[in-house]
Amino acid sequence: MLLHNLKDAEQKVSFVEAVKVGLGNNQGVFFPNSLVPLSNVDELLELDFVARSSKILSHLIGDELPESTVQQMVQNAFNFPAELVKVEDNVYCLELFHGPTLAFKDFGGRFMAECLSVFNEGNKTTILTATSGDTGAAVAHAFYGKKDIDVVILYPKGKISLAQQKLFTTLGNNIHCYAVDGSFDDCQAMVKQAFLDDEVKQRLGLNSANSINISRLLAQVCYYFEAVAKLPKAERAKAHISVPSGNFGNVCAAMIAASLGLPVAKLSATTNQNDTVPRYLASKEWMPNATLESLSNAMDVSKPNNWPRVQFMLDNNWFSYDNFYSHSVDEAETKAVMHDVYAKGYLAEPHTAIAYQGLKQDLAADGVGIFLSTAHPAKFKESVEDILSIELDMPKPLADALAKQCLAEDLVNDYQVLRENILVKLA
Ligand SMILES: *Cc1c(COP(=O)(O)O)cnc(C)c1O
Repeated sequence: MLLHNLKDAEQKVSFVEAVKVGLGNNQGVFFPNSLVPLSNVDELLELDFVARSSKILSHLIGDELPESTVQQMVQNAFNFPAELVKVEDNVYCLELFHGPTLAFKDFGGRFMAECLSVFNEGNKTTILTATSGDTGAAVAHAFYGKKDIDVVILYPKGKISLAQQKLFTTLGNNIHCYAVDGSFDDCQAMVKQAFLDDEVKQRLGLNSANSINISRLLAQVCYYFEAVAKLPKAERAKAHISVPSGNFGNVCAAMIAASLGLPVAKLSATTNQNDTVPRYLASKEWMPNATLESLSNAMDVSKPNNWPRVQFMLDNNWFSYDNFYSHSVDEAETKAVMHDVYAKGYLAEPHTAIAYQGLKQDLAADGVGIFLSTAHPAKFKESVEDILSIELDMPKPLADALAKQCLAEDLVNDYQVLRENILVKLA
């Protein structure tokens, strides 16, 4: 697979390079030069998830990796299912929260971890990241036990929920956690300093494993095929998919799936009150506002970092603007929709409810809708219980984590102390 930097067309890289480097010159994101449609979509739809995903990823990555290697990586990464649940006539929910951290980011995170552990060729790699909650867990679980890779996670002490914290601080082994006496911004500032520190960068082989990494997007393409494969055959050609969107990576993966030949009639990228994209589509002016805090906080993004990729596909007519919708759902509407969906017998947390609402706004009378559930309701326990006046059971992965001991070390908010600590421990 050949890719180029969307901000600097001269910068051309292979898939392996794009995964290792992450972000290109001028903070530009990498994107494939072209996408060759799959010739046998109907046959692929008959395969099981792992077998089909191996073939799709092998097709995308090309001859940089042997098919058997890709197959092994997919088997390791996708060791949990994506489920399609019927919610009402012609409307289905694609549940992406059956992985170890109960959110869809497990798909991309785990495949990226497979890529980095194959590509690092025995060199030492240290993933350094700051978390305000969910990314820490997804990264920690994805890289847990990976050879030659250490993970260092900084989080603001006492400022994230116990459930979130215990999902990563109880793992141990190659996962090293620091509870920082400061804010999330302080944690992020220390991570930034480390990436500017050449000695630390060299000796630890620092990598950020961040959300812009192309390997995540390619992994996410696979569950769109799974969704369509699980539809009744007569309904497959009419799929209208609604994706709850923050950084627009997930909907970008849906567009790649469509470009590969997956029948997708329409796509809705639905946002919360952070509505930069819906306003842009209406006015053609890019005017991000200050970011607002919402119930669907994983989508509190006003400058979505994957938008250039989506726009590239739309501008080059890889997917038609006519079939692309983006609406914003405000807080009151989110709560009302959670009630509506619950009354239909389905329990949706705020992100999922937003996807449902976006779908209903544009679904054609003869269309077949799929909305994505990106997180398990228990991940947003407080707001779900409060809004719906119900009590939720703890799913097993969360209950197990809560019962374990926190292994994080306390750390003062001082980069020099962090630096000494990780050099002694990991270099
Ligand atoms: C990250 C996230 C989103 C947004 O996905 P993007 O790819 O950033 O658009 C939606 N829901 C949940 C639960 C998330 O964690």
